[in-house]
Amino acid sequence: MPVRQKRNPGSQSALRLSNQQRILSNLVSSGPTTQADIARGTGLSTATVSNIVKVLVDCGLVSTSPTTSSGRRARLVSLKSTDGAVSVGIDFGRRHVRIIVATLDYRVIAEKEIEIPLGCTAAEALDISANLLTSTLAQAGVQRSAVLGIGVGVPGPIDRRTGTVVKGAILPEWVGFTVGMAEASFELPVYLENDANLGALAESTWGPHAGTPTVVFVKIGTGIGAGLIFYGKPYSGNIGLTGEIGHTPIHEHGLLCRCGNRGCLETVASTTIMIELLSHALDRPVRTRDIVRLVLDGDERAIRVVDDAGFAVGRSIAAMANLVNPHTIIVGGPLTDLGEMLLRPIRSGLERYAVPMIVETTELVMSSLGERAEALGGAALVLQQSGIHSTLT
Ligand SMILES: [Zn+2]
Repeated sequence: MPVRQKRNPGSQSALRLSNQQRILSNLVSSGPTTQADIARGTGLSTATVSNIVKVLVDCGLVSTSPTTSSGRRARLVSLKSTDGAVSVGIDFGRRHVRIIVATLDYRVIAEKEIEIPLGCTAAEALDISANLLTSTLAQAGVQRSAVLGIGVGVPGPIDRRTGTVVKGAILPEWVGFTVGMAEASFELPVYLENDANLGALAESTWGPHAGTPTVVFVKIGTGIGAGLIFYGKPYSGNIGLTGEIGHTPIHEHGLLCRCGNRGCLETVASTTIMIELLSHALDRPVRTRDIVRLVLDGDERAIRVVDDAGFAVGRSIAAMANLVNPHTIIVGGPLTDLGEMLLRPIRSGLERYAVPMIVETTELVMSSLGERAEALGGAALVLQQSGIHSTLT
């Protein structure tokens, strides 16, 4: 479940958006319906339905026409043709913003990525992405009114009770960021989700593993996190903090982790630590893309770092696989171009620590969506949440 439906239970705008969504879903499943029947179908008051329908007419999502029902005058509400409607996925990273515009039948019609400065505040990143959205839509010839919503991915945990990015985010500047801030900036409905969860959703909707019942998506990047899909739906637990495998203890007396514990998986297998180790060993600054290049060029130091990191990831995945027994485990993030060079040590860790029958029956693969996964997941989230997805499958 994305944040949007459950955030700020007391907030008027959250309530309005959630009601809006219920009405749209009702129209998707029932076809043209009178306002009175929508009220009955959704359990909302007729006054609320009438107000929201006015908003939806203004947004161009529905149209109304006079009709009669049981001999009385009534207003028939119809969902406008969704031809031309799009969903948008935006993925925020430490140094990039990626945007994907997709049609309702899952075709990507526009895609852009730009670099952002390190240490960019959430407000600055939002400004940059709002401009990027405007130029991308213009280039694709898409009207703003055709955007159903934006699925936004951030690399950090999101507390669903408040719809807020909480402590533990890879980008400390984003702690305290809310869905409302994004909606104010984009002036469109926004669904906020953790990036690993969006990766998982993308894999189960866009990738070659679409339709796989249980998927674990493990993102190895600046941080390490896992997204879980159980029977087509993202699993969000109690307050939304799931799949935090980056904080699985690996070395009891290891390095201090940003979570306050010691020796977490992130302290031995994130790209942050790989960069630190390699910069030291090579005596020059190293960036994420250099890790891939160095390994593929056969640099022993880089291969050692990736080998050790992969084995530790495999060990943490083993604990999760023993618990969840997934059909497929998909590894994503900026190192996917390493292919077998990274999968091999992960598989070794899995084989060493998971129950043998689980190892034999679990598929372990590299993401084929690469760094696009999170933004694709954002677009998929909008479709899933607006009820469009259910009419297509
Ligand atoms: Zn930790």
